[in-house]
Amino acid sequence: MAELDSPQQHPKLYKPTGDLVILANDGEATTAFRVHTVILAEHSPVFAGMLALPVVDDDAMEKYDDVPLVRLADSAQDLAALLEVFYTPAHPQFKASDRDFAEHVYPLAMIAAKYQVDSLCRAVAEHLKSQWPTTLEQLLKDTRTVPSHLPRGRMNLAFPEPAAAIRLATDLNVPEILPMAYYVLATYPFDKATRTQPWNFRRPRWHLLHEDECLRAYRGKLELMEENLNMELSYQLDDGDCNHMAPGNYIPGSLPCGRVVEGIKANRTHADFSGISAATKSFARLDPLGSAAQAYRDGVVRSLCFACKAKMKAKFEVKVKELWQGLPDIFSLPQAFASSDS
Ligand SMILES: [Zn+2]
Repeated sequence: MAELDSPQQHPKLYKPTGDLVILANDGEATTAFRVHTVILAEHSPVFAGMLALPVVDDDAMEKYDDVPLVRLADSAQDLAALLEVFYTPAHPQFKASDRDFAEHVYPLAMIAAKYQVDSLCRAVAEHLKSQWPTTLEQLLKDTRTVPSHLPRGRMNLAFPEPAAAIRLATDLNVPEILPMAYYVLATYPFDKATRTQPWNFRRPRWHLLHEDECLRAYRGKLELMEENLNMELSYQLDDGDCNHMAPGNYIPGSLPCGRVVEGIKANRTHADFSGISAATKSFARLDPLGSAAQAYRDGVVRSLCFACKAKMKAKFEVKVKELWQGLPDIFSLPQAFASSDS
């Protein structure tokens, strides 16, 4: 009792009616929390177990402010975040728009996992899953995946920063989001030349990933190069059922649709594959899934006749599906991480 350093009582979490004091450190500073054992036990089986240990000799027990005292090795800041959740009737309202959710919530999620606060872990997992498509249906419904306003290869601008999401999903065991998070990570340019990127371009937080995870992303990107080429080669159309001159078509074009698609392909492949620097750029901006989803949504371009548009939509629907289902393989995600979506 006497040799206690002088702890700072937490402004909100030092409850006068509490029957237990917890001390935790952040560097030099020690914080005292005064809390209710019933509330700890209610939320956490780990705390419940700790508190159920028989007290051999009540007098020998260390006390502070006349109630029993325990010291925990957790950081006071993390512990405060966790205890705050215990004393808040509803779980913290995670913001859907918070692009840094995964990074913000990580310490709280880890201490919640340590103390087996399952409802909080579930809330974090659910929120994380709401930020990333986990099924093909969600992927296609998600306007972020098929953005009409984003230039090609800018999938990374439409989603939260993926490295923090991978860290959280891996450590909290939320494997469902990993295929898409790795994919979005792979659509970032991997070099350091970010000067030509748009103002809101941000580099992924590579430092949050382990070496094998970085490698997985890089190898996946190499795999995507082939997928990307295959995708670009899908821009072709035979004129069999073309009725672009038929009255009542959306835009009766003067060119048969096959020629229109040919022009699009020439444009895309010219931009993507002419010259070393263009090829490098194309590698940096690989986004076959985004391109396929966009082609599927639009039936490539509006000016195709209905029959050809339907044909192209069907073709790119298959592409999107193949790519989506291939993601766990492309990123060599362990079997347990494979998406259950069929
Ligand atoms: Zn046509």
